Amino acid sequence: MVGKERIYLSPPHLSGWEERFVRDAFASNWVAPLGPQVDAFEREVADYVGAKGGVSTNTGTAAIHMALRLAGTAAQDTVFCSALTFVASASPILYLGAAPVFIDSEPATWNMSKDALQRAFRDAEQDGRMPKAVIVVNLYGQSADLGPISEICRRYKVPLIEDAAESLGATYRGKASGTIGQFGIYSFNGNKLITTSGGGMLVSNDQQALEKAKFWATQARDPARHYQHSELGYNYRLSNLLAAVGRGQLQVIEERIAARRLVFERYHQALHDIEGIEFMPEAPFGRATRWLTALWLHPGRCAVTAGQLVEALEAENIEARPVWKPLHLQPLFQGCRYYPHSAGESVSERLFQNGICLPSGSNLSEAAQERVIDCVRRSLQNGPGAQGAMFEYGKGGR
Ligand SMILES: *Cc1c(COP(=O)(O)O)cnc(C)c1O
Repeated sequence: MVGKERIYLSPPHLSGWEERFVRDAFASNWVAPLGPQVDAFEREVADYVGAKGGVSTNTGTAAIHMALRLAGTAAQDTVFCSALTFVASASPILYLGAAPVFIDSEPATWNMSKDALQRAFRDAEQDGRMPKAVIVVNLYGQSADLGPISEICRRYKVPLIEDAAESLGATYRGKASGTIGQFGIYSFNGNKLITTSGGGMLVSNDQQALEKAKFWATQARDPARHYQHSELGYNYRLSNLLAAVGRGQLQVIEERIAARRLVFERYHQALHDIEGIEFMPEAPFGRATRWLTALWLHPGRCAVTAGQLVEALEAENIEARPVWKPLHLQPLFQGCRYYPHSAGESVSERLFQNGICLPSGSNLSEAAQERVIDCVRRSLQNGPGAQGAMFEYGKGGR
């Protein structure tokens, strides 16, 4: 490990424009929360994705919370949510005292299985207990197959919330990821395609709903000169300084997407011929950003497990990650209902057991990527080293 520079999974990548916008914010003394940079950032993101408007928040998680509340979620309700995702997709369901029902992935997109969703709705109808919303996640920069998914939601009159935290810039049949459901959310956390260091946004074509979200996110202050509150609010707004950083990042978003796609192309070129490796497919319905290059290893056909490969990369000071541990397997969500893709197939569990995400930053140099590729090839040819044999993340725990 000594002497080898660390290669990160998805580090921030500055454009040089950020300082200009931040300087404007300082020059105008607008360093306090809200202000012209926030307004401009909201307008620019909404314009980029083709939504009527946006409300920026201090995290993507907060934006999901606001979307769920707009959908009317309250204690004792249920919400359908993709199983294969980061915890933040579902924790706001718990904030509201509601219960998640997890929906598996399908093999073609790694995203929500419409078959599993349909079964969940049929059961909900039978039980007379419709969910308040469906949260669909667009994983690793690729949209879910939202045509059939939104059709199902429309049929049951349940609002669709797109967790597009990982898919800003992706498209689905010509539309921007995040703009197909009633509400979409983006994250500008440090590891995302573009970052404000921390931040998020709720987008929608429903201006009235956005106004309401802005109200809740700003402590729900009634329009009175004295401090008066009739509803429960939150302190969720984005700082004007961070919005300035986001505007600088947004200037180069198309370049960032092109760079991530190129990183994927290089991995694919160099590794696709190895027996037992399968990359996350790019569905024909749109453009994936390849925010992260993800792949899975056929168990039994590869010399190492995905867990051993992560360890082998770590030994070379390279940060790789398992695919998200499905939420229905998380201790936090023990006892929650789960609908697998089919009776005999749980896609999210297979992807978790065997999947891996490789360093995918838009600033990953070719030389650094060569180091990753070399290590992956060597591991898959030679099998696990001493440290690899000790660790398998699929095992142990729930
Ligand atoms: C990053 C992420 C979030 C949360 O965004 P934050 O801005 O970190 O709160 C939510 N969902 C998914 C799928 C994410 O990857």
